[in-house]
Amino acid sequence: MPIEISCTGCSQLLRVSDQHAGKKARCPSCGTIVQIPKFGPDEPSPLPADDPFSDSFPQQSEPKPNPFADRPPSTPNPYLSPAQPSGRSGGFQKAHRGGLVLTFGIVGVLCCMPLGIAAWVMGASDLSEMRAGRMDPGGMDTTRVGMILGIVSVGLAVLGIVVNVLLMVVGAAL
Ligand SMILES: [Zn+2]
Repeated sequence: MPIEISCTGCSQLLRVSDQHAGKKARCPSCGTIVQIPKFGPDEPSPLPADDPFSDSFPQQSEPKPNPFADRPPSTPNPYLSPAQPSGRSGGFQKAHRGGLVLTFGIVGVLCCMPLGIAAWVMGASDLSEMRAGRMDPGGMDTTRVGMILGIVSVGLAVLGIVVNVLLMVVGAAL
C-alpha cells in the first residue's frame, strides 16, 4: 500500500511506496525534501479509510472525505460536461431561444431557406451553450427540433437545385 504525503513546500500530494517509509523523498514539483513518515502495520493511515476515491482521484490540496460531496444531488442536464466547473450556484444563465429557433426552422422548411440556415446556426450555437451550462437547458428539445428543421430546409433546397439542374440537363439532351 503506497504512502500519501503532502509536500511541505508546495502541498503537492506525493505517493511513495511504503518500502521508502522513514526515508526522505524529493518532491518532483518543487524539489523540496520531504520526510516520509514511517507507518507501522498497526498504525492508522493518515487518510480517512472510508474514502473510496482517495486512490483514483489525487488532489492538489488536502484530501476531502468525499470529493463529490459538494456536487448537486441530481444533474438537471445529462449532456453537461462532467469537467464543468462546479461554481454554477448563482451563475448567470442566458435564456434559451428555443421558440425562435423552432419558428425559423419551420418557416425555413415551408418557404424561405435562409431562415432555415439561421435556425441551424442559432440552434447549433445555443445547444453548445446549453451543454456548457451557460444557457437555460429547458429549451434544449425545442432548439434541437428547430435546428433539425433548419438542416432539413437546407437539404430540401439543395435537393430542389439538384432536381432543377437534372431537369435542365434532361431537357437539353432531348
Ligand atoms: Zn513540492
